Amino acid sequence: MRNAEQKKGSSVYTIGLSEALLGDEEKHALCRVIDSGWLSTGDEVRAFEQEFAQCHAQKDAVAVSSCTAALQLALQALGVRPGDEILVPSVTFIATVNAVLYVDARPVPVDIQSPVLPHMSLEDAERKITKKTRGVIIMHYGGFACDTALWSEFCRRHDCILIEDAAHTPFMPSVGQYSDAAAFSFFANKNMTCAEGGMILSRHAAVRDACRMLRAHGMTAPTLERKRGHAFSYDIVQLGYNMRMDELRAALGRVQLEHLEERTRTRRHLTACYRELLTAALPEVAILPLSHENADCHLMVCVLPEGCDRAAVMQRMKDAGVQTSIHYPPYHRFSWHSRLFAETALPLAEEYMRRTLTLPLHPGLNEDHVHRVVRALSEALHPRSAGGTVHPAGKTESFTSWHR
Ligand SMILES: *Cc1c(COP(=O)(O)O)cnc(C)c1O
Repeated sequence: MRNAEQKKGSSVYTIGLSEALLGDEEKHALCRVIDSGWLSTGDEVRAFEQEFAQCHAQKDAVAVSSCTAALQLALQALGVRPGDEILVPSVTFIATVNAVLYVDARPVPVDIQSPVLPHMSLEDAERKITKKTRGVIIMHYGGFACDTALWSEFCRRHDCILIEDAAHTPFMPSVGQYSDAAAFSFFANKNMTCAEGGMILSRHAAVRDACRMLRAHGMTAPTLERKRGHAFSYDIVQLGYNMRMDELRAALGRVQLEHLEERTRTRRHLTACYRELLTAALPEVAILPLSHENADCHLMVCVLPEGCDRAAVMQRMKDAGVQTSIHYPPYHRFSWHSRLFAETALPLAEEYMRRTLTLPLHPGLNEDHVHRVVRALSEALHPRSAGGTVHPAGKTESFTSWHR
């Protein structure tokens, strides 16, 4: 395995935020596809779908070009119509909201549970239900599962569909069991990747069939069937899209899926390590009050103290070679989106998004890296201002002596 510090390219960071683990197995898989002579949706995609479905104890899955596409197709296949309202998380990536906009429905942001718990609040969702509410999208933030059974009950009570944005939880076995559809991402910085790609799980065969048709122009006979002589022509029975996955990506995804369990375990271990060190060394920094033990641990997020200058902290950590990020900037204030949400007040989400900080987490890291990140965070929060020097993140031993 490549050392996490031997970064390719021109990264200024010694410890990067996230990194895809790719190696010889992926190279062999790509060669296998190239040698086969068939590149567009075919047997590899079919095998990837079946293996992914099996991993989630589901009958089948539908591979698509991205999680954004998966969300859009799920909304459409579940019959969401122009003007319908869809409750969406206020702390999420913009794709969750855009998918709703693509089908001309109205995204209604729901506030979070508390300033240190960024999952959607059921109470606020209850307040935002109207006669036009048709569905809810929940998002398993950072790899920590929402209470899907509770949301499922909420949706039954309000006669709504439930979709899971599962971009952060490709391994979690419960995803897809209680909802009408779940959408996964295989983008380069996710827990498993095929560079770009997505997957749809749905308990409803009709939804899977609709998604399969919509991803390929609403076409009755896909290219592979014609190549194999099963069909000479095709019909278009609805307005679809090109949201297909190709064989190269599917082959990558199958290799990544094989390593997902072991890499998820590494993520949990590193998260446990972070949590222990942060709790001991920096009690003023909050960690999410959710168990990491069965979580997919996609993001290592913490919440900085009220009034803390986060930009300065991020700059000092950058100077120490540690990359950090923010998940997420408030989308309801983005230049393009703000006009849609002029009336929207999300006090808890806004506080969270002002204070949250994401630390490096990927299975290429080890305990020593975690020590160094926490030490860098500590020094960034408490710079030795008199001398003005911020010491670069050092080794484990010096951290241990320092944090006592
Ligand atoms: C990455 C991400 C997406 C979008 O995934 P793509 O595969 O890039 O379309 C959607 N929602 C969340 C929460 C994400 O993190």
